[in-house]
Amino acid sequence: MAEILDGKAVSQKIKENLRKEVEELKQNGIFPKLAVIMVGNDSSSKIYVRNKSIACKEVGIEYEEYLLDENITMDELLGLINKLNKDDSVNGILLQSPIPRRLDINEAFKTIDPKKDVDGFNPCNVGKLCLGQDSLVSCTPYGIIKLLEEYGVEIEGKDAVVVGRSNIVGKPMMQCLLNKNATVTICHSKTIKLERATKKADILVVAVGKPKFITKDMVKDGSIVIDVGINRGEDGKLCGDVDYEEVSKVASYITPVPGGVGPMTIAMLMNNIVKATKMKEKE
Ligand code: NDP
Repeated sequence: MAEILDGKAVSQKIKENLRKEVEELKQNGIFPKLAVIMVGNDSSSKIYVRNKSIACKEVGIEYEEYLLDENITMDELLGLINKLNKDDSVNGILLQSPIPRRLDINEAFKTIDPKKDVDGFNPCNVGKLCLGQDSLVSCTPYGIIKLLEEYGVEIEGKDAVVVGRSNIVGKPMMQCLLNKNATVTICHSKTIKLERATKKADILVVAVGKPKFITKDMVKDGSIVIDVGINRGEDGKLCGDVDYEEVSKVASYITPVPGGVGPMTIAMLMNNIVKATKMKEKE
């Protein structure tokens, strides 16, 4: 039976350490602040944004929220981002996705000041990650690396397979694993015989968005399985992209959903806000 990679417990530890760092910053008159922009009324986004605000409170980070009407224009959205870029009291800016399709999310990410880009989606930070330079790293992949490290899982030299190639999870995940010297394969919807790739993974990261998509027969005995997916199953309960019950019988380590990657993502967001704050103070 696989050992559980307990993202909830590890994230608590990370947040506790960050809380102490924030306390110290405050004693020096520095008050880290996150500004979150949400466009429209997406119900999942509301939950994610709420969880981020709760984490900020736990860590002592100031938090402000901009809830924009779904009919907002691109100019108005960029206007707000530019205003927050110039606001010295704001250390991190987060644009919650999705936003309405008629708005250009890439243009919006590009407009966020790279030094306040706590989600790591600005092309400048994406480029730095690719070049192996210090940057604000996308929170989900970064959280996964931290979780593996916390459990002493060696990444170097391992065959790592990432299923999903989105800009926010799959691609930066590939890059983070590569930067840790894994041999990385990335799969997507056009991959032929997916199980041929997943079966050879020592570390398998799944970010597809389909409930129980990865089954036991697609996984190598003893592999480390990271489930990024957050889906609502037929029973209404949250579930991942991996058939947890079955796959945990063959994997050596596995992340649960909920309680695995999700809390680590939020902890890394907090980490990035503190990092952005310190970078600014150093300037
Ligand atoms: P996207 O929809 O942007 O990307 C899904 C990826 O899966 C695409 O690259 C797609 O391929 C690939 N894919 C779809 N079908 C198949 C298939 N049959 N075989 C192989 N690959 C396939 O999703 P995200 O990356 O944004 O998110 C993925 C999941 O992770 C979602 O459930 C989301 O809710 C969750 N998530 C969880 C987070 C957390 O903190 N835990 C954070 C962010 C996301 P192609 O590119 O060819 O279309």
